[in-house]
Amino acid sequence: MSSSRSRGSLGTSQYSERREFDSLFRDFNEMSHFAVRGITFATEAATDLEEAEEQEELNQLDVIVRDYIDLENKLGFQRTALNNLKIRFDAGHKFDLVENYETQLDDALNKYETKSENEKYFQNENYIEFRQKIWDVNHPDETMPPLDKEADDEIVMGRQKESLYCPITTLLLEEPVTSNVCKHTFSKDAIMQLIRRNMNSVPCPMTGCDKYIMEHNLQPNKRIERKVEQYKAHSEDPMDDVEYTNIE
Ligand SMILES: [Zn+2]
Repeated sequence: MSSSRSRGSLGTSQYSERREFDSLFRDFNEMSHFAVRGITFATEAATDLEEAEEQEELNQLDVIVRDYIDLENKLGFQRTALNNLKIRFDAGHKFDLVENYETQLDDALNKYETKSENEKYFQNENYIEFRQKIWDVNHPDETMPPLDKEADDEIVMGRQKESLYCPITTLLLEEPVTSNVCKHTFSKDAIMQLIRRNMNSVPCPMTGCDKYIMEHNLQPNKRIERKVEQYKAHSEDPMDDVEYTNIE
């Protein structure tokens, strides 16, 4: 099965290379459909979970939807890189396909990694729809607040401004853990899922942070956990009450 690159009677690799391009494009399209189906499925499941007040599962689903969006975006970069190569290849240019492809892809991925959560997800139509469906369960007649709530994410408590929201789930921190390499804090389940999925080392999900986080870098942060509890208890917004009624 090793050689699909039969040079055949053409005496040149042109023909089989072109076929390989075509088959790669087909693969990307299939993967892309797979990602879209995953998001659709998650969006439907989210409504049921919100009705059943399964907050933890919802948080996990949120992480999954973001992963699908990342996957879709990354497939898009691959497709673009390949398309550029194909154009040059068809025009008869000679160059190292693999090296060229990898350079293009690295550039695109590096740029993507530096994007903010807002750019990656909150402006993504599929993600907005996912959150909208969840919102509609308990607020059928209210407009969903903008997802990019960076402005009110941070509440002033004591002398320090500190976010009580997990940058991965965008929800209030649950079992907060803090990385000892960069001091960023996440909900435990959310960061652990990322770490496991990335062979035990994940680039810090906090925008602008270039550290890598491994499981042993994470420490439970009881201080922030208490702050979250206080924040929930003191929150006088009746809308928040609805959200927390199922918490002991
Ligand atoms: Zn960090």
